Amino acid sequence: MKICYDLIIAGGGMVGSALACALGGTDLHIALLEGAPLERIRPDLEPDLRVSAINRASQRIFAAVGAWDSMAAWRVSPFRDMRVWDATGFGHIHFDSAAIGEPLLGWIIENRVIQYALLEQVRQSPTIDLLCPAVLDAVEPLEGNGWQIRLNDGRELITDLLIGADGAQSKVRQLTGIDTSGWNYNQKAVVGNVRTTEPHQETAWQRFLPTGPLAFLPLHDGRCSIVWSTTMEQADALLALDETEFAQSLAEAFDQRLGAIIDVGPRDAFLLRLQHAHAYVKPGLALIGDAAHVVHPLAGQGVNLGLLDAATLAEVIMNALTAGQKINSLKVLRRYERWRKSDNLLMLGVMDGFKRLFGNSLPPVRLLRNLGLNLANATGSLKNLIARRAMGLTGDLPQLARVID
Ligand SMILES: Cc1cc2nc3c(=O)[nH]c(=O)nc-3n(C[C@H](O)[C@H](O)[C@H](O)COP(=O)(O)OP(=O)(O)OC[C@H]3O[C@@H](n4cnc5c(N)ncnc54)[C@H](O)[C@@H]3O)c2cc1C
Repeated sequence: MKICYDLIIAGGGMVGSALACALGGTDLHIALLEGAPLERIRPDLEPDLRVSAINRASQRIFAAVGAWDSMAAWRVSPFRDMRVWDATGFGHIHFDSAAIGEPLLGWIIENRVIQYALLEQVRQSPTIDLLCPAVLDAVEPLEGNGWQIRLNDGRELITDLLIGADGAQSKVRQLTGIDTSGWNYNQKAVVGNVRTTEPHQETAWQRFLPTGPLAFLPLHDGRCSIVWSTTMEQADALLALDETEFAQSLAEAFDQRLGAIIDVGPRDAFLLRLQHAHAYVKPGLALIGDAAHVVHPLAGQGVNLGLLDAATLAEVIMNALTAGQKINSLKVLRRYERWRKSDNLLMLGVMDGFKRLFGNSLPPVRLLRNLGLNLANATGSLKNLIARRAMGLTGDLPQLARVID
């Protein structure tokens, strides 16, 4: 028997489950498909190696959909300062929340905690079926409009509107013929949680090495989550080191800024790429999050952009429902694409520019970027502008991400 839904979201990661939560109050009959079993998403397991720097806009979205209190009750780590510096020169920049009149810059949160809190909200909605584990295997257009979807266990579903929230390798995107542009950086990000002899001071630290940035992000238990972007060869070598050797290499690469590394947990590595879908929408179809765009993690913006996609698409769909319009029409879905594409492309370009600028070892370029960092640091108004944008306090934000006066 084929089950019919108004809307199916493929991918119950942070972005797909946020969209489901945002639409949970409507009359739409929704299915959220998540390929990974729920047992792997429990936050009472060992802390997740993957964390996200969550900005104020994303936090407001979590609060608006009712998931923030649960996240905060599990584990969230505020950061109030950010210090960035160039390993090859004298340039540095310091963002201080107090100087821009804010209590903090953002939060470091384990991906699994975010996903779990959102899925808990989804489970409470009477209009959403959470199918998990459920792997989307095939998509075929129906005559007229809509899609027939087959899961890997043979179940068949039908929907008017299909949302691809299934990550960078999106099957929805591939099966519906949407191409992407982009490139691999030939880099991997090595991640792990470590303890340092000096306290992290609720500060996000980032040192730009010639091979890529190395970030130390504050965790609730005093440890730091590290994201070390580097060449494929060095990343593989770092994973192969024993704990003592790794701790030494890490402390050296970080210039002992937080002292010695005294505790090293498990490590993992992720390939880095830039990717952008040629279209975010088709009739009856929309892509959100990493399915639509993948950005270098150096400024921790990927999921923040994806959550804005989710909040924007939810707003566009709800406005269409109010106006009595078809939510799967290209006219309606294009409003979402127009709203989000330029913002996402701008962020992809800026992050790619930073990546190239800091990877360049030509002496004049090194000198200019160090001077530029110091100039930006000394110019309060420019620094303020950069910080407020990265925090999600400015820009054309959807309702769910706006400050409530
Ligand atoms: C090292 C690293 C550090 C990062 N740090 C930050 C940061 O600090 N801040 C930030 O904003 N961003 C950061 N990012 C980016 C961020 O992790 C991604 O942007 C984010 O995970 C995208 O979320 P998503 O829900 O779109 O996709 P995903 O997280 O990839 O989730 C996709 C979901 O879909 C499911 N799925 C996939 N295929 C199917 C299928 N066929 N059927 C059903 N389900 C399926 C998967 O199981 C998964 O749950 C970082 C990325 C990396 C690599």
